Amino acid sequence: MFNLQSLIRDNIKNLVAYSSARDEFSGEAKVFLDANENSLGSPLTKWYNRYPDPHQLAIKQKLAFIKSIPVEHIFLGNGSDECIDLLFRSFCNPGKDNVVICPPTYGMYQVSANINDVGIKKVPLTEDFQLDLIHLENVVDANTKIIWLCSPNNPTGNSLNRADIEMVLNNFNGLVVIDEAYINFSKQKSFLQELADYPNLVVLQTLSKAWGLAGLRLGMAFASAAIIEVLNKVKPPYNISQATQELVLKALDEVGQVNDMIKLLVDMRDALADVFRSMPTVEKVYPSDGNFILVKIKDARKLYEFLITKGIVLRDRSNVQLCEDCLRITVGSEKDNTILIDAMQAWYQINA
Ligand SMILES: *Cc1c(COP(=O)(O)O)cnc(C)c1O
Repeated sequence: MFNLQSLIRDNIKNLVAYSSARDEFSGEAKVFLDANENSLGSPLTKWYNRYPDPHQLAIKQKLAFIKSIPVEHIFLGNGSDECIDLLFRSFCNPGKDNVVICPPTYGMYQVSANINDVGIKKVPLTEDFQLDLIHLENVVDANTKIIWLCSPNNPTGNSLNRADIEMVLNNFNGLVVIDEAYINFSKQKSFLQELADYPNLVVLQTLSKAWGLAGLRLGMAFASAAIIEVLNKVKPPYNISQATQELVLKALDEVGQVNDMIKLLVDMRDALADVFRSMPTVEKVYPSDGNFILVKIKDARKLYEFLITKGIVLRDRSNVQLCEDCLRITVGSEKDNTILIDAMQAWYQINA
């Protein structure tokens, strides 16, 4: 049986959350002298002298509408990376608990586990980058608090089989986090609408990829109201800046424009994959549900270094287990992609 109370760290369960000035009074007033702000103003024109809304209600209301998820099921972090760290800090006892990760995958799960002194059990993906359910079942123990899944997965680009994820959700009594940073580029269905069925489910999304707002730092965690309450208790009071809140509010009105970019990027991804496939030294182009492509290529490291000399930076994954000789290539603008393809062809000519 899933029992959230038994998963929460005791110190967090007993924690009295910081009560900010904006928590204690959030109504309309003429004179605000409760937060030690600078009442004269700021060097900027906006009211950046005031602390921002600690609950980011305006953004959550817009997201609730866009995602069809009630506000109580939404948590906002300073990037998904803050959501990841808060999940460790809320649920995993340092020096005692452990989590499962399925490499090759996003590096922050491991880094955050290490920062928090939480054990890591690695269950590598299979050769076709799917979950190894038998291995997974075998490594889980009484101190396993979280299983981290990434779908579509970074750096491999594929989505995990839905039935496998459901198997994990149905059989694991800790939290199952599904990182959907790339879900907007995928034809696969998000797990967002399954929250009601799985009290142990946490879905992570971000504005950093499809929304084109990596610089603003806004990540989202969707989960049961009880899990969201825990994260709210642990987060720094003003974790989303006023500037970010204002700009994100504006951006969220542009769903149409974002959808147009997504369509364009998906088309460019598929065209780019075809070009890579036609190249003689490319050994494999992995199918991608993201805005990037994993390519297995002869002398990957040497190509990577050659491209650096041309001012082109890819992500070298050639020394990552199961990604040997692979480069991860983000789909760029039309111009970026042309520059990359031309440079790759120049390299083949030199090395033919
Ligand atoms: C890029 C990425 C993120 C985004 O993190 P932010 O902190 O929101 O920018 C999260 N998860 C995965 C798998 C990613 O690739």
